[in-house]
Amino acid sequence: MTSPDRLAQTLSKHGLRQTPVRKAVLQVLSEATYALSGGEIEQLLPPDTDRITLYRTLKSFEESGLIHRVIDASDIIRYASCSIECSAQAHFDNHVHFKCTACQHIFCLNQVAIPAVTLPAKFEAQTRDYLLSGTCRECQPS
Ligand SMILES: [Zn+2]
Ligand SMILES: [Zn+2]
Repeated sequence: MTSPDRLAQTLSKHGLRQTPVRKAVLQVLSEATYALSGGEIEQLLPPDTDRITLYRTLKSFEESGLIHRVIDASDIIRYASCSIECSAQAHFDNHVHFKCTACQHIFCLNQVAIPAVTLPAKFEAQTRDYLLSGTCRECQPS
């Protein structure tokens, strides 16, 4: 369990006021081992959490570089907490994501950087998504 102090610190470091919902959402995302959709986050929060507040919180977290979106071929947007070094500007330099076709979870492979790509002249990338799919550690046949 992430300590309340640690959560408060992270929020203030990113210039965010501390509210119960923000703390709860941050806690859920910092403890998740794979990316969560908005609906999944909602289910892990206290039942009286307002959905609009939740989505506003996710938006402000995303804008301040606390979390990032993880997108796969489906239209579901998932969120994962960013590594400590991450900032809103640093999102471009991102890591590889891995989708497990057995458990359907998407993992942030923070330790695996997206390989450099050389684009043709006049092509300018604004975002990078690098998604691999296969079988995760948990789902490997033993
Ligand atoms: Zn799996
Ligand atoms: Zn990620």
